[in-house]
Amino acid sequence: MLILQQNYFSQIAAYARQQLPLEACGLIAGIKENENIIVKKIYFLNNVDKSVRHFSLAPQEQFQAIKDMRQNNYILLGNWHSHPSSAAVPSTEDIKLAYDPALSYLILSLQYSTPLLNSFKIKNGFITKEIIHIIPEEKR
Ligand SMILES: [Zn+2]
Repeated sequence: MLILQQNYFSQIAAYARQQLPLEACGLIAGIKENENIIVKKIYFLNNVDKSVRHFSLAPQEQFQAIKDMRQNNYILLGNWHSHPSSAAVPSTEDIKLAYDPALSYLILSLQYSTPLLNSFKIKNGFITKEIIHIIPEEKR
């Protein structure tokens, strides 16, 4: 199960709306505890493809994000991107480009007025939906 704070979900949705009509993208980092994937930080990256149907994470920003994760003792948990006008399921290209079966691939659909977020594991072209458990914002 992937555990995500409500405010992170809101931030992803807000950022994705700002980037419309383009696909928005980023990374998620945190920790793994038993069977749980706990998201501790969201990174908002630029889609260098500047496309409404594709995304590529800006390499330099990706590098910076990984560095920040190391400093915080977080691991890379996966990436996220938006589908401005299609469902929250991986496209054929998303499946093709998914290179790491250990990562979670989150897709936010802005197809309808309420944003919908799904998470997937992708292995050898097969997708498995992962349960997302939304929790209240953690107080620091
Ligand atoms: Zn996609």
